[in-house]
Amino acid sequence: MQAARLHEYTDDMSEALSIDEVDRPTATGPSDVIVEVEGAGWCQTDNHIIEGMWTEYVEQDLPMTLGHENAGIVAEVGEDVTTVSEGDPVICHPVQTCGTCRPCRLGEDMYCENSQFNGLTTDGGFAEFLHTSDRAVIPLPEGVDPTDIAPHADAGITAYHAAKKAVHELNPGDTAVVIGVGGLGHIGLQCLRAMSAADIVAVDLKQSARDLASDLGADETIDPETEDVASVVEEFSGGVGSQQTLDFVGRDQTTALAPDITAAGGDHHIIGYGGHIHEPAQGLVFGEFSFRGTLVGQYTELQELVALVDRGDVTLHTERHELGDVNTVAERLEHGEIDGRAVITPP
Ligand SMILES: [Zn+2]
Ligand SMILES: [Zn+2]
Repeated sequence: MQAARLHEYTDDMSEALSIDEVDRPTATGPSDVIVEVEGAGWCQTDNHIIEGMWTEYVEQDLPMTLGHENAGIVAEVGEDVTTVSEGDPVICHPVQTCGTCRPCRLGEDMYCENSQFNGLTTDGGFAEFLHTSDRAVIPLPEGVDPTDIAPHADAGITAYHAAKKAVHELNPGDTAVVIGVGGLGHIGLQCLRAMSAADIVAVDLKQSARDLASDLGADETIDPETEDVASVVEEFSGGVGSQQTLDFVGRDQTTALAPDITAAGGDHHIIGYGGHIHEPAQGLVFGEFSFRGTLVGQYTELQELVALVDRGDVTLHTERHELGDVNTVAERLEHGEIDGRAVITPP
């Protein structure tokens, strides 16, 4: 089968991955599930993996097939699998968990002590077939297209996970700020809208992204190039500030907004990454605000997100590309030229 593989870390996205002919995976283990990939979302994290940014955090054996936002049709199952069978449409949580360690028993899939992560530590879905397990697949409701929903496997679940944490802390009338209305941000905004009665302010450099934010229910939008974000948030919130900020950008300029826009006791959630946080400890003490990290989300949260999608509360803006176009997609994402989410559709 064909697979888009990373052979060498590089900053040059035009030669990021190569299309190789590799063996098709088979269900050799009792809980294995082989999925024929219908759609695999291209993520900023793929660019970061290609750049070698994850080598400090996880072990990677190259060459490796990238692609962690996968959905498709079950092609083969191991002998113990009872939850899905051949022909079922599924979305794949990117992590295959063991099910027996303490984090697994707490439902904290991301903290599993014996996990594999498609496209990060093991082969992913930029290929005709994906090897995963029964603990990772979620059957799709009738009428939900695997190609359309694929990016929810990471982009969606990550945005949902952050939004759910924020919603726990948001009361009606509070202010929530969404920074960056791109692939993840436009999902996070819809999750906030669906699950809270907070007033939402969206911040983005691009007019098209601000328009999208307004369409999706943002109450106010800010162009950080021409407006002072802190002043607008202060005025909008009646001087209180943002109780919960979802930072889908995570660059130095956006993390630096936290002391100026966060309400006392509020949180600045870091979802996008690439930059640093440089704040005086005293600033966090005085405002009693927190920076909180976000790493994908739980299997059960992906189920909840599928329910929101099925209800029509969350829609995804996608564009489709063939497997051979991966490097063009990587380059375009690097230059901020993709609105919403690019989905790779293997043959
Ligand atoms: Zn991703
Ligand atoms: Zn585990």
